[in-house]
Amino acid sequence: MKDHQVDLCGAEGAGRAPDMPFLEEDSVFSFQCAGCGGCCRHREDIVLSGYDLYRLSRRLGLPPRLTARTFCRIYLGAVSRLPVLRLAPVREEHNNCPFLTENRCAVHEARPLVCALYPLGQEISPDGRVRYYFQSTQCGGQVYRASLADYLAGQGIKEREPLDVRWAQCCMELEQQAPGWEASFHPVILRRFQAKLCQALYYRYSLARPWLMQLEENLTWLRQERAKLEQMQQHIHQKNRWNHSI
Ligand code: SF4
Ligand code: SF4
Repeated sequence: MKDHQVDLCGAEGAGRAPDMPFLEEDSVFSFQCAGCGGCCRHREDIVLSGYDLYRLSRRLGLPPRLTARTFCRIYLGAVSRLPVLRLAPVREEHNNCPFLTENRCAVHEARPLVCALYPLGQEISPDGRVRYYFQSTQCGGQVYRASLADYLAGQGIKEREPLDVRWAQCCMELEQQAPGWEASFHPVILRRFQAKLCQALYYRYSLARPWLMQLEENLTWLRQERAKLEQMQQHIHQKNRWNHSI
């Protein structure tokens, strides 16, 4: 996995600027959009959560790993030290999002959270508090005007909010633990653990079962796999010490 500037959980400066106020449930905001598809071009910052990948995979009828391999790039976040998945624009097609078809999103009903939110941004705190803010589009075209509550409901964001909160919390918890495993694992074992992280966060999901319960199962599985790798490393250390002493 190659490092890249866009990270999980809004790390590395992504997120709310000081001039973007938080909105209340009944706050009304408006923006203009001509539907040109411009925000789906030249984007290398559409980061997917595990739930985004699961939804896209269900929409496409592909296993999550194949969806990621076909439409995404995966790399290690420079700050989070976690695997980050983002949509990969298609160079041969003017760097368009792979799902942009004649200025329309071909996966509209399963589009990633960041696309559904636009022009809003979302901030989730470690205790699960969710806040939304408005980012001006500077675009012309049809005027859209809505209260925050109506906009979130209309875009299907309110419905998925508990899952997005759990995902954010899980990433924040793992991010806290990352320096520990990076410091203690031998580079070879670390690579194996990072591959297991990718499985737990993105790939180890059956499309026939609800996503959230599989995330929790995967986190338990990941703890078990980490313990096994720690044991394996200890075993190798002991063997090396024994070899050096004879
Ligand atoms: S927000 Fe602006 S760039 Fe994006 S589709 Fe609308 S008009 Fe185009
Ligand atoms: S997934 Fe859809 S909405 Fe999101 S960038 Fe791609 S085409 Fe645009």
